[in-house]
Amino acid sequence: MQGRPLHVIVIGAGTGGMCLAHGLRRAGISVAVYERYRTRSDGLLGYRVGINPTGCRALRECLPSELFTTFLATCARAPRFFNVLTEQLHRTASFALRPEADPTSIDQSVSRMTLRQVLLTDMDDVVQFGKTFTHYERHDDGTVTAHFADGTSATGDLLVAADGTHSAVRRQYLPHAEVKDAGSINIASKIPLTEYTRSLLPDDIRGGISLIFGSGGLMGVLHVMEFKWDQRGSVKPGVGVTDASLIGSWPGLLYDNTRDCINLIIWSAADRFPSDVMELRGERLAQVALDLTRNWHPTLRELLRHSDPGSVIPIKVATSVPVEPWKSSNITLLGDAIHTMTPGRGVGANTALRDAALLCRHLVAAVADERPLVEAVADYETEMIRYGFARVADSLRTNGTNGDDPIYKPIIGRFAMLAARGYFSVTSRLPPLRRKFVDQLYDYRGAES
Ligand SMILES: Cc1cc2nc3c(=O)[nH]c(=O)nc-3n(C[C@H](O)[C@H](O)[C@H](O)COP(=O)(O)OP(=O)(O)OC[C@H]3O[C@@H](n4cnc5c(N)ncnc54)[C@H](O)[C@@H]3O)c2cc1C
Repeated sequence: MQGRPLHVIVIGAGTGGMCLAHGLRRAGISVAVYERYRTRSDGLLGYRVGINPTGCRALRECLPSELFTTFLATCARAPRFFNVLTEQLHRTASFALRPEADPTSIDQSVSRMTLRQVLLTDMDDVVQFGKTFTHYERHDDGTVTAHFADGTSATGDLLVAADGTHSAVRRQYLPHAEVKDAGSINIASKIPLTEYTRSLLPDDIRGGISLIFGSGGLMGVLHVMEFKWDQRGSVKPGVGVTDASLIGSWPGLLYDNTRDCINLIIWSAADRFPSDVMELRGERLAQVALDLTRNWHPTLRELLRHSDPGSVIPIKVATSVPVEPWKSSNITLLGDAIHTMTPGRGVGANTALRDAALLCRHLVAAVADERPLVEAVADYETEMIRYGFARVADSLRTNGTNGDDPIYKPIIGRFAMLAARGYFSVTSRLPPLRRKFVDQLYDYRGAES
């Protein structure tokens, strides 16, 4: 190392950046995080993110152990089934998921806002809000200075870009690295879970994750998120003493408006949507979702009618083009800043967490062994580039998140949709295929058998 204590600057207090910051602080390495949002509740972060065993292990490795336990306590009830449905709510397939024996061996259903609040817990001295990174400058003594839009700056030994898909650090450091439109658009909506909306859903759909293969090339996913606290933010009756006390004493809930809800997301090729869809919000956007789902089952449309208009958002899906390895330096990247992927496999956040834990491990080892910082960064980047872009490729091929997917093509689209449904139907009905499917699902998501 450079003969003085290492100081790491992280741009972006998102999933990956905060996980890294916790890990470094826990290891006694000086770290500061700079976030463009002005407050810890800014941004539309209420949607579900599935944290898989890979992501859970990274959090367990980096977070203080009590905070990791708080993370687990704040997850929604884990899904018990993976269902494949038609737009008429006909079950094409239903796979029972593994029971929650070890919480790090299954997918956790997490609210983005809650995860953000967990990651910001006890980090007031590390994170600075209202700091929009604009550019960096390198110095002969091996340090690097990050400049912010408010005219301030910060200097450190290592600059980590954790600033997401439109990373300003990446634009300067790897200007040839390309993020591109994947050609599909999502409309995400949240429906408050009330006695009425709950009554609309059969048990297996309420207790699972349901992927909807709609005819005519319109896809959807439905998750029911049930937390351990009620509408007022008080711990629900029946929650175990340990979780109740962790949630009751966790300050993060004060900043978190997450409540029980149904997440319903629909998506298709971008040309199916009105040209101004990215500018629409609220009831006008909910109406677009209703117009697109005219041939969907009345229950699904009734759910859309009950969506909270303030929660309805359009998402243009992006992906990244693999980059050839570059010469490592005192600037590096993690998560979406380097390998933005479509939500097709639900592993973007998990890969950001994996990056954070891996980078942290290499930096801690380099400090302990007095190895050069750049060697640690190079070791991290070699591994991260390999698995990161492999995940990008997998995600692009999955569930119609690529606008060029055959299911969106005229004529052959119908056959592609029937083939996809047929695959799930056969797989779920034949026990050896069903077992193999579930095993592969867990393997991919990082479960240890
Ligand atoms: C619809 C949808 C569903 C998804 N579902 C899943 C899922 O189930 N599981 C999963 O693993 N992944 C999922 N993902 C992907 C996941 O959300 C991302 O991959 C993940 O959030 C990336 O984390 P990150 O830390 O790299 O970036 P982010 O979490 O995006 O954090 C980046 C941070 O940097 C800040 N920032 C940006 N620019 C600047 C700047 N100039 N200066 C300072 N700060 C800046 C931002 O405000 C933000 O806080 C989904 C994505 C979508 C679109």
